[in-house]
Amino acid sequence: MMQGHHTAASTCAAGHRQCSRCGKSKPLTAFYRNPATICKGCHNRASRLTNQIRRAAIAHLIATHQAEYRARLDAERVARATPEAGGER
Ligand SMILES: [Zn+2]
Repeated sequence: MMQGHHTAASTCAAGHRQCSRCGKSKPLTAFYRNPATICKGCHNRASRLTNQIRRAAIAHLIATHQAEYRARLDAERVARATPEAGGER
């Protein structure tokens, strides 16, 4: 019952590649040229995941640096505010 293939013996074995991510054998058209070992489906999923991770990482980075930046700003503000008084009380 595996004879639904149209007369394409060349596209059968030679035109297929196994995805290193999902392990499925897919036609070459299902692969990009650059990460040639990962099928488009897996690559898209991976890139989407990477985007989410990157976005989360950037958000985390901004939040972290905001706290750091604020602390630094506060320290600078304090340092600038004190010399105006001329000294200690
Ligand atoms: Zn895959």
